[in-house]
Amino acid sequence: MKEVKTPKKPLIYYYVIVLLVLFLFNLLVTPLLMKRQVVEVDYGTFMSMIEKKDIGEVQVEDNQIIFTNKENTAIYKTGTMNDPGLTERLYESGARFAKDIEKTMSPLLSIFLTVILPLLIFVGLGQYMSKKLMEQQGGKNSMAFGMGKSNAKIYVQSAEGIHFSDVAGEDEAKESLTEIVDYLHNPDKYTEVGASMPKGILLVGPPGTGKTMLAKAVAGEANVPFFSISGSEFVEMFVGMGASKVRDLFRQAKEKAPCIVFIDEIDAIGKKRDGQVGGNDEREQTLNQLLTEMDGFEGNNGVIILAATNRPESLDPALTRPGRFDRRVPVELPDLQGREAILKVHARKIKASDDVDFHTIARMASGASGAELANIINEAALRAVRSGRTVVNQSDLEESIEVVIAGYQKKNAVLSDAEKKVVAYHEIGHALVAAMQTHSAPVQKITIIPRTSGALGYTMQVEQGDKYLLTKQEIENKIATYTGGRAAEEVVFGEITTGASNDIEQATKLARAMITQYGMSEKFDMVAMETVTNQYLGGDSSLTCSADTQKEIDQMVVSLVKEQHEKARQLLTENRKKLDELAMFLYERETITGEEFMEILNRKDGAAV
Ligand code: ADP
Ligand code: ZN
Repeated sequence: MKEVKTPKKPLIYYYVIVLLVLFLFNLLVTPLLMKRQVVEVDYGTFMSMIEKKDIGEVQVEDNQIIFTNKENTAIYKTGTMNDPGLTERLYESGARFAKDIEKTMSPLLSIFLTVILPLLIFVGLGQYMSKKLMEQQGGKNSMAFGMGKSNAKIYVQSAEGIHFSDVAGEDEAKESLTEIVDYLHNPDKYTEVGASMPKGILLVGPPGTGKTMLAKAVAGEANVPFFSISGSEFVEMFVGMGASKVRDLFRQAKEKAPCIVFIDEIDAIGKKRDGQVGGNDEREQTLNQLLTEMDGFEGNNGVIILAATNRPESLDPALTRPGRFDRRVPVELPDLQGREAILKVHARKIKASDDVDFHTIARMASGASGAELANIINEAALRAVRSGRTVVNQSDLEESIEVVIAGYQKKNAVLSDAEKKVVAYHEIGHALVAAMQTHSAPVQKITIIPRTSGALGYTMQVEQGDKYLLTKQEIENKIATYTGGRAAEEVVFGEITTGASNDIEQATKLARAMITQYGMSEKFDMVAMETVTNQYLGGDSSLTCSADTQKEIDQMVVSLVKEQHEKARQLLTENRKKLDELAMFLYERETITGEEFMEILNRKDGAAV
């Protein structure tokens, strides 16, 4: 990234630089001083150096002899001896007779050289630079000193040459943004007809789906400057200055128009003003300034504001009304095709073997965001390096999906034998219930290797394609599959464990949604009892019904889950033989594939394992 940000702690930053400069300077100067250090040697060494004609300069004094080697890189000294022919021998050896060889530097001078001089240089340079910076800013800023000055650095043009082709999938989003690019290229076309571009466009979608990337790509395609700042920075970094930052941002943007201004996490400043007691004044001022700025500039001045958020419902209505962020571009989680495309885009950066099947990987990674997919590719490359290979293969990718989704294998977590058996039965329970219900997707992989995320094992289900609609029957089957793990424990061991907590959560969520959101109960018909409030972040929901109804819903959820649990138990009891066979197989292998699973399941009874 080329974006230069103002340091959060300028003082510390400054100190570190000073220390660094001192250190470097000393590194340079000290050898020069050190060279003059005198080494004391015995007379024998001196004599043999004369014989080898290895003496550069020599200075014979009353009680000591100081001399250097031929290259003049070291100074030696030795005591004098009664050595009559010394002068001749020295002369013959080619030594030069000198004076003041040992002249050491005065301590004052060395302090000056190593400490004071570098500081002077440093301060001088610093002043020169800041003067230059001021000139560049055109001196328009009334604030001569202090934080207000450094703001130019925050929003540096940095589209990084990203283009639409770098953003895989997201075709709908790209299509709506293409118009912006076209406008930036050719504004006259629009003004002629009297059409004006929306001033603000809101990119909404879950984290990691490429919103920032899309904004950069718009700037990249249109080849215009890209100013970016994150909403949380307004709030955290510039305490007490949010409003002035906004003003400044827009001043700069107008100077550089046409350009893109990108505000990430706009919900951090644009949250609904809810009039709480002692509300967040700072944020409100920032928001108000933003609104004022947006109203202030007339359309078609070439400044396009893109903002990203993953909680659109929490935005202040004032922000989303016409004339402000009135266009909304959804950036959704990628579908199967999109996932495959994203994987391929990122795989360009690594060396993958030819037989890698990205379609399968994309299918396995259902629900993953673009950022997670990028991460999967990188994890796979790291794994290849760890195992000493130079290309990434299929198993690297498959393993890295699990790493990204479930965490690393916990190499040293040792399950006791009994525990391992329970986990094996539990996981086979899920898989078997899923397989016995015709509508459930087949399993891809079952493993009982503990993960750092805390999962002791898991069953990876794979949908054949993306599913957009689920029938009531399919949801019920899903619930039964979630209960399958616990059901297997009951059927086999007559005892239950804590290993099903996540299953319970998921099953309950689905059952509740059937009744309150999907209108799948006879009793409440098509009445919404719940609204989803946080669509892109896990989908929290809030009840919109009376306490009495709530009580009834709870009872219905319980009986719904109970019914499916009972069904799962029955399925497993009926197929007890297969359950045992499969669980033992998994217990021994620790990881089995969907094919192995199906093979055993379809095998005629009585065949050997
Ligand atoms: P967001 O702003 O929506 O949270 P980003 O744009 O910061 O997401 O995306 C994070 C990273 O994820 C990107 O740097 C990119 O590597 C990857 N990524 C996300 N979506 C895509 C996509 N559609 N195509 C290619 N890469 C993507
Ligand atoms: Zn489970």
